[in-house]
Amino acid sequence: MRIDKLLANTGFGSRKEVKKLLKSGTVEADGEKLKNGATHVNPETQEITVRGETLHYQKFIYLMLNKPQGVVSATEDNLHNTVIDLLEFEDAVREPFPVGRLDKDTEGLLLLTNDGKFAHSLTSPNKKVPKVYQAELAKSITENDMRAFEEGILLDDGYQTKPAQLESLDQSGRHIQVTITEGKFHQVKRMFEARENKVLFLKRVKIGYLSLDPKLGKGEYRDLSQDELEKAK
Ligand code: URA
Repeated sequence: MRIDKLLANTGFGSRKEVKKLLKSGTVEADGEKLKNGATHVNPETQEITVRGETLHYQKFIYLMLNKPQGVVSATEDNLHNTVIDLLEFEDAVREPFPVGRLDKDTEGLLLLTNDGKFAHSLTSPNKKVPKVYQAELAKSITENDMRAFEEGILLDDGYQTKPAQLESLDQSGRHIQVTITEGKFHQVKRMFEARENKVLFLKRVKIGYLSLDPKLGKGEYRDLSQDELEKAK
């Protein structure tokens, strides 16, 4: 890859700043000074140093975002801000994409990565990775709702959902937690619609082993820890 792209990707600033850094003659590949941003390097086989310090290149990034309402889970959108707009420049240039989707008005745990294999392992229907959502509903749930979720709900398009676990989070029965292993379009909302109820607020709190970090405010994100990554893979 080009040395200027590599430097931008690893946090050495904007294109302009990277150009200045290269000009200063402090970037080397295997001991050879690099001044031209277009020079190709291989960070996996060459030792790249910046001001004498070895650059640690990680091929992939894995981010946990607390998605706020109002942004779309896509890399590009003509009308709305996307989750990529919430990222710092040095993360956005690594070209991560969302692992699965949350609706524009849904909040909570969204993973972003540029590792296609990792994304596939969490979204492939065959893997049946449980996803946990918390919701506020218009009406209280009943024992019948819980049974129906366990048996599978017939959606408006004729699809029968896989067993899902529904539980109440308080006395009102309107604050609930639901666990599903699929990711059909608007699935949770449509499951409640089929039970003549309505989702007023929806937040994802868990995907497989990964729980949303309660320290992350809306719109904030962090790298997955090594431990989280190993468990999630
Ligand atoms: N189910 C929904 O209805 N919306 C989401 O964003 C996620 C699951």
